[in-house]
Order: sequence, then C-alpha cells, then structure tokens
Amino acid sequence: MKLLVILVVLFVVAYALWQKWQRIPPQTKQLWGAIFGMAGAMRQAKKQAKQNGGFPVETPVTNRGLMLPCTTCGLHVPQSEGVLVSGRFYCSAEHVK
Ligand SMILES: [Zn+2]
Repeated sequence: MKLLVILVVLFVVAYALWQKWQRIPPQTKQLWGAIFGMAGAMRQAKKQAKQNGGFPVETPVTNRGLMLPCTTCGLHVPQSEGVLVSGRFYCSAEHVK
C-alpha cells in the first residue's frame, strides 16, 4: 500500500513537471541544455585532470613535442631538456662549446 502511495505521488510530481515543461519557451529549454552540456564537459575535464595527477591534460606542444638536434653530437633531444646558447641548441650543458 505504501509503495502505491509513493508511485502515485511520483506520478503526480512527474505530471506537474511535464505540464510546466510544456509551457517553458524554447529559449529556456536551450539554456538548460547548454547548462547541462557545460556541466558535463566540466565534469569530464575534472575527471581527466585527476587521472593526470592534477595537471591539465594538454601540455603545450612546444614544451615536449619539439625535438631539436644537438649542435655538437647531432642527437635529437626535446627542447625542454636541452640547452639553448646564443641561438644554438645542445643536448646537455657538457656539449656547449
Ligand atoms: Zn650533444
């Protein structure tokens, strides 16, 4: 009996919400859609940030993607790991002439 009452209440609430939803102008519906979409995107970004130990997912390409050849030995090293002296790139401080 208790379950039936709960079901009836739920149905009445759902019906009332549906009636209200019918009267909402399309612009408001779009606004709600945008809000839910943004919330979803933010949750996704937060989840990805957590997986990366709190750091943003995308690290700038210039920091790790670009490989440069050492002027002394020719070894290709990520730009962030090498040394740049007066326009010349070296794989380590030992190779700087
Ligand atoms: Zn070198």
